[in-house]
Amino acid sequence: MPSYKAPLRDINFCIKELFDYKDIQALPGYEDMGEDLVDAVLTEAARICEDVLAPINQSGDLEGCRWENGQVFTPKGIKEAYNTFVEGSWTSLAADPAYGGQGLPESIGLMTEEMICGANTSFSLYPGLTRGASILLHTHGSDELKDRYLPKMINGTWGGTMCLTESHCGTDLGLLRTKAEPQGDGSYLVTGTKIFISSGEHDLTDNIIHFVLAKTPDAPAGIKGVSLFVVPKIWVNDDGSLGDTNGVTCASIEHKMGIRASATCVMNFENAKGYLVGKLFHGVSNMFAMMNAERLGVGNQGLGVAEVAYQNALAYARDRLQGRALTGVKFPEKPADPITVHPDVRRMLLTMKAYNEGNRMVGAWIARALDVSHKEKDPVKKQEAEDLVQLMTPVVKAFFTDCGYDVANMAMQVLGGHGYIKEYGLEQFARDARISQIYEGTNGVQALDFVGRKLPANTGRYLRQFFHPVLVFIEENKDNAALAEMIPLLVKAVTRLQQATSYLAVSALRNPDEAGAASVDYLRMFALVTHAYLWAKAVKIAAPKVSGEEGLFYESKLETARFFYTKLLPQTSSLLATIMAGAKPLMSMKEEGFGPF
Ligand SMILES: Cc1cc2nc3c(=O)[nH]c(=O)nc-3n(C[C@H](O)[C@H](O)[C@H](O)COP(=O)(O)OP(=O)(O)OC[C@H]3O[C@@H](n4cnc5c(N)ncnc54)[C@H](O)[C@@H]3O)c2cc1C
Repeated sequence: MPSYKAPLRDINFCIKELFDYKDIQALPGYEDMGEDLVDAVLTEAARICEDVLAPINQSGDLEGCRWENGQVFTPKGIKEAYNTFVEGSWTSLAADPAYGGQGLPESIGLMTEEMICGANTSFSLYPGLTRGASILLHTHGSDELKDRYLPKMINGTWGGTMCLTESHCGTDLGLLRTKAEPQGDGSYLVTGTKIFISSGEHDLTDNIIHFVLAKTPDAPAGIKGVSLFVVPKIWVNDDGSLGDTNGVTCASIEHKMGIRASATCVMNFENAKGYLVGKLFHGVSNMFAMMNAERLGVGNQGLGVAEVAYQNALAYARDRLQGRALTGVKFPEKPADPITVHPDVRRMLLTMKAYNEGNRMVGAWIARALDVSHKEKDPVKKQEAEDLVQLMTPVVKAFFTDCGYDVANMAMQVLGGHGYIKEYGLEQFARDARISQIYEGTNGVQALDFVGRKLPANTGRYLRQFFHPVLVFIEENKDNAALAEMIPLLVKAVTRLQQATSYLAVSALRNPDEAGAASVDYLRMFALVTHAYLWAKAVKIAAPKVSGEEGLFYESKLETARFFYTKLLPQTSSLLATIMAGAKPLMSMKEEGFGPF
């Protein structure tokens, strides 16, 4: 069975060394959240993940969820794990204390989430969706709705969902057909069928609060006519007690490639009573409060799975004896050398390690910006942090999850044939990682959002929150001996990115297909340059510490950074070339030209 060890040392490096946690503690509301508390939370989260969630990951995958007469049963152990999770108050970490949350910084909440996803991705969806739904209600709900639903969602007694997708509409939500009929007393009756609803029905909570996109009878056509409704599975009385069942049923569950312990449901709403959340016709824009939180969460799924896949591939590689090192026998006492002596196996291990640690640094940077955007009093700093979060959300979602699948796939390769066999668990990581590239807006759609909305927003204002710190870092460190190898390469990569950005700004105005054609390559290039910036920062911190107490940890940072700069960052050259090749090679083919012939 595969194992999971929470990467606490590296998480601490990101929170306390790469960035200074004291800056977060200095924000209003976080004064009492000292480093001791952070250590205690992360250590206990690691224990739950390693001892409670990871051991039921493989069995949950093998058993899967079960549907019987509208009821959904999660695999053995999930309910007990959920109860332990709720008893430990893990559902309420970063939530608002006014509704029973613990008010911890997002920097801590999101790092904890990475561990939960790494230990058991399927499990992570149950509290993850509820958390996103709570954020949605907290942002757009009336006080009455918040008082009624939030405390029990935050303490994990009730679950939450997002009900967007219908069989004929996923990306294009303007096409949805679910109807909401006003009843004249402020309530609506919602009717329609939603598919692919994560945690739509299960046996973990007393009630499930659905957040449903639907159209009222007089709604304008398309996306501008969509509104958001809160529809509980079981009606909640004014005194907070549970009333009658509402018209919400689960027609079936999907049988999927991965995340098999997560219930993915077809949900029928038949005159189900609900209330409007936020203003009429603002459904899709309001839903972004949840979708943006979920996109960071799904990014964490990519990182979590990549980390556990790497750990298990590494353990196997150290044990597996095959062949001899090309430069001569390294372990003469053994019948063969461990496969870690082979350059190609090292290439795979280092690629995994570099992407994982790089993404963890990006995650820490953005979680920190999220904290500043929530708590900072200075309006300029608050806006700058908010801009960075807006800019980087699609990058986190798409790049972390692309890496998640690539790393899980590479981890399988390290195990050779054993990677393909269920018992070793590596193939499950690849299957579990795959969905994260698809849901919460496909990665193609993230890239479009990035180039189409985030880059041009406010005449490039968001972009400045990226380029400014990178250029300042280069200027301040151009003579730093520890960075002598890296700064020239960073300058080249940043210059390529600027070139691609200028090209896009001009060509997309001429022809919108240019933006679409470049989008995926551009997002990847952006992510790689972000990694390069953060690896350089990491080297600056690690270099003076290699001869100290934890020399191996810091030396490993330097080696990984060197590998990233010389073996992965050069992708930016080929990405620039494909971006500059423009839209024509994609668009000139006649539709019939695709064949098949
Ligand atoms: C396991 C699982 C769990 C899910 N959980 C939920 C959930 O909890 N709630 C929920 O509402 N939904 C959920 N979904 C649905 C998921 O979010 C959608 O499947 C996803 O957003 C893509 O929509 P689609 O499947 O309709 O694909 P489509 O929208 O049909 O897209 C098909 C392809 O076309 C591309 N494409 C589509 N439009 C464009 C465009 N304008 N420009 C460029 N490319 C485009 C896409 O990138 C994709 O490659 C889940 C799905 C799965 C499989």
